[in-house]
Amino acid sequence: MTDPPQTDPLPPHVAALIARRFPHSGDELVVGGVAVGELAERFGTPLFVYDGGAFAAAERAVRNALPAGWELFYSMKANPAAALLQFFMGRGCGIEVASAGELRQALAAGCPADRVIFAGPGKTDVELALAVEAGVGELHLESVGEARRLANLAAGGSLSARLAIRVNPNAAVQGGAMRMGGRPSPFGVDEERFEEAVDEIASAGLSIDGLHLFTGTQILDADVLLAQYRHGFELARRLADRTGRPVRTVDLGGGWGVPYFPNEAPLDLAALADGLVELEAERTADPRLADARVVLEPGRFLTAEAGVYLARVTDVKISRGKTFAVLDGGMHHHLAASGNLGQTIKRNYPLAIVNRLRAPAGEPIELVGPLCTPLDALGRSAAIPTPRVGDLAGVFQSGAYARAASPLGFLSHPAPPEVWVDSGVARLIRRRGNPADFLHDQLPAAGIAASGRPDAD
Ligand SMILES: *Cc1c(COP(=O)(O)O)cnc(C)c1O
Repeated sequence: MTDPPQTDPLPPHVAALIARRFPHSGDELVVGGVAVGELAERFGTPLFVYDGGAFAAAERAVRNALPAGWELFYSMKANPAAALLQFFMGRGCGIEVASAGELRQALAAGCPADRVIFAGPGKTDVELALAVEAGVGELHLESVGEARRLANLAAGGSLSARLAIRVNPNAAVQGGAMRMGGRPSPFGVDEERFEEAVDEIASAGLSIDGLHLFTGTQILDADVLLAQYRHGFELARRLADRTGRPVRTVDLGGGWGVPYFPNEAPLDLAALADGLVELEAERTADPRLADARVVLEPGRFLTAEAGVYLARVTDVKISRGKTFAVLDGGMHHHLAASGNLGQTIKRNYPLAIVNRLRAPAGEPIELVGPLCTPLDALGRSAAIPTPRVGDLAGVFQSGAYARAASPLGFLSHPAPPEVWVDSGVARLIRRRGNPADFLHDQLPAAGIAASGRPDAD
């Protein structure tokens, strides 16, 4: 046996992530106790693999940082796989949904309706009616207009849901990669006219007993989160003062970040926990807030680090001096990693050739997908070993906003399967999409080809 190399050839942020979440890896990445080569062989590529232990570790880390009694609702838009919903439900989480489709998936996964929070702008009458009928535990109102439509729907019937109002706060509490506070926004009611909105909703016949604040995602600074939470409690006090009733629920949103890029460090959970002790002492000493349930609804933090997207190298070619490795997967499965989901400057997600973690990096590599568009690149000038046909490329931080936020239909490749791996056991939790599915919703277009226009009827 030769000694391991003295200097780890992986970039430090990739090495740190592997040490944190996939510590049993040697020269080959090991996810949930199974080497990725074996997973790729058994389930085919491209695919998403999830380490069940890493989900559990993330959930534990959140709970350990929170004051006792605070509740966790998993924000399912990060990754709606039913197995994942059931996993978090089994660990005591509720589920936060933001569409009728998400609500149906949460209920189908076995989530009791009263453990659902329904948020999101633009809930249609159909969605509001479905939420009322299903008996969801909490509805977050995003505007006075939405509240009026809900009041009409619920008129005469019984509305069991707790109602919270979402506030778009002033500029003082901004933070995160995607800011949603302090500027014009479709989310919530502006802080400047928040009390008026509460009055208007009351005169529509609904009583608001909760406050919802969620102002930004991918926040890596504990102080930013603490400032937002402090502001959320302050708004909740104002709500109680306006209604004359104690607040029943305060939802402080999601937004906890994970490091993607070399200059980013993980969220300082110890600092967050320390700050929360003080906030919680102030809250419980205030009769307006003492009996409220306090909720956090993270998505990304709970799921991102457990997931790896695996794609196989199908071709390696050189064009005008640059080396291109062409993968069997790409932006249609992982839009965020291609830099086309909200990034203005494309930066590479953490990447590696996961069957040769100890191979030194060669010249910079263009890691591209199979789609006929130059947007389909998962790595630009990537510092990885020169790929060989048959190698496995891995994109880390792929448990959140990856498959779920991608244009799966673009170019009509099959949708990628998802595999859950824990303690050496791998289970398929979502099948590879059948390309024939693209044919099932098509209607015969008799007459179009001949006339260039559909038939009149
Ligand atoms: C997206 C979303 C979340 C989750 O955000 P993360 O940054 O993934 O934690 C929570 N609440 C609402 C209302 C959301 O829309």
